[in-house]
Amino acid sequence: MQFSLLNLIRQSFSANQGWTEQWRSPAEPKPAYDAIIIGGGGHGLATAYYMAAEHGMTNIAVVEKGWIGGGNTGRNTTIIRSNYLWEESEALYNHAMGLWQDLSHALNYNVMYSPRGCMMLAHNTHDVQVFKRHVHANRLFGIDNQWLSPEEAKDVCPILDISKNMRYPIVGASLQRRGGVARHDAVAWGYARAASALGVDILQKCEVKGIRRDASGAVSGVDTSRGPISTKKIGVVAAGNTSTVLGMAGVRLPLESFPLQALVSEPIKPLMPCVVMSNTIHAYMSQSDKGELVIGAGTDAYISYSQTGGLHIATHTLDAICELFPMVRRLRMLRNWGGIVDVTPDRSPIIGKTPVPGLFINCGWGTGGFKATPGSGHVFAHQVATGEPNRISAPFSLDRFVSGRLIDEAAAAAVAH
Ligand SMILES: Cc1cc2nc3c(=O)[nH]c(=O)nc-3n(C[C@H](O)[C@H](O)[C@H](O)COP(=O)(O)OP(=O)(O)OC[C@H]3O[C@@H](n4cnc5c(N)ncnc54)[C@H](O)[C@@H]3O)c2cc1C
Repeated sequence: MQFSLLNLIRQSFSANQGWTEQWRSPAEPKPAYDAIIIGGGGHGLATAYYMAAEHGMTNIAVVEKGWIGGGNTGRNTTIIRSNYLWEESEALYNHAMGLWQDLSHALNYNVMYSPRGCMMLAHNTHDVQVFKRHVHANRLFGIDNQWLSPEEAKDVCPILDISKNMRYPIVGASLQRRGGVARHDAVAWGYARAASALGVDILQKCEVKGIRRDASGAVSGVDTSRGPISTKKIGVVAAGNTSTVLGMAGVRLPLESFPLQALVSEPIKPLMPCVVMSNTIHAYMSQSDKGELVIGAGTDAYISYSQTGGLHIATHTLDAICELFPMVRRLRMLRNWGGIVDVTPDRSPIIGKTPVPGLFINCGWGTGGFKATPGSGHVFAHQVATGEPNRISAPFSLDRFVSGRLIDEAAAAAVAH
């Protein structure tokens, strides 16, 4: 350790930030950690928090190449719901929903979880059949979901246009009242602060560039932009970069990466009481606590790491939004942005072991992983800490792409976010 004045200032500064930042020269070997989590998004930070809080593993580090929450966690449109079709998905997303409800208390940090309801619009007979099937499947599983007529949908969200001569007529809707939104960056900060308080090191601006393996093939550490770190367990939660990181250990994954974009309007007074989504025309909107209308578009048609999206994708979404909500037509856009999402062939995440001993993955959340953040972190913490999946995460193992036991939310649910 070099005891320069600059180092001392940095250390006291980082202590005052509320989370731990190790300031060492790149040449100096890092201490061994019991586990390293690659990726300081919501899922990675939640994993570290639950490993410390529930498994007593405090000698661990989260390694983040940028700043915490700067990936998809801070770029998403924050929709939370658990009305998925298949039982495996229902169990996973509803586990997250249960944790959301008490998360601000558990972390002692206001994540602004707001269960204001999540409505999904039906525009044609196929939508009606699919959504009614969802409502029934969810209720059989004990998850709240209800079917609404167009008039009932308008009662819940008065700015919806339900006239019959629309380009995308609304013929009904499903509503999950417990669905809603949360403040995305607060989720990253809340988990980071709580994990740090339990002893977890959070290393920002520290990019993993290589995965080390010992003579037996098991992981033995990582090479980072700030030097090597030794460890026997690595959990990779690096959305949009998973294939690159796993490639460092010679593991190939069934993942494709797509840009996904969103935008917000200028802030206005409250007019949007819930989240409204349309899978069929791929547009959705909610209103943030700052007053901005939060509007999400679809993924680009082509794979890319560009972290932006095609203009035509956004303009199609805005066409649809203006048709569904004519009164927002003259609002101005405040800003837009994009992220990179990892998509699996069955549109369900991969959580579990890899062929490399000590190397675990949590990826493939595609366009819909924010809602899962607490549940994902909770089950992945169990996986990394114990080496084995728990009851909820077991069906999401990588070997389902060999066995064919897929959890096909794409074909079954045309799932969006
Ligand atoms: C525009 C948009 C809208 C979305 N809307 C919704 C929504 O409404 N509801 C919903 O549920 N989901 C939504 N999602 C999806 C959701 O954002 C993601 O599934 C979720 O945030 C993934 O969280 P994460 O922690 O896994 O990933 P991230 O937050 O992306 O974290 C991964 C981290 O890994 C880091 N990393 C990568 N490579 C390395 C490396 N080599 N070394 C160190 N660190 C590395 C990255 O810098 C990043 O910070 C949306 C996504 C986008 C882009």
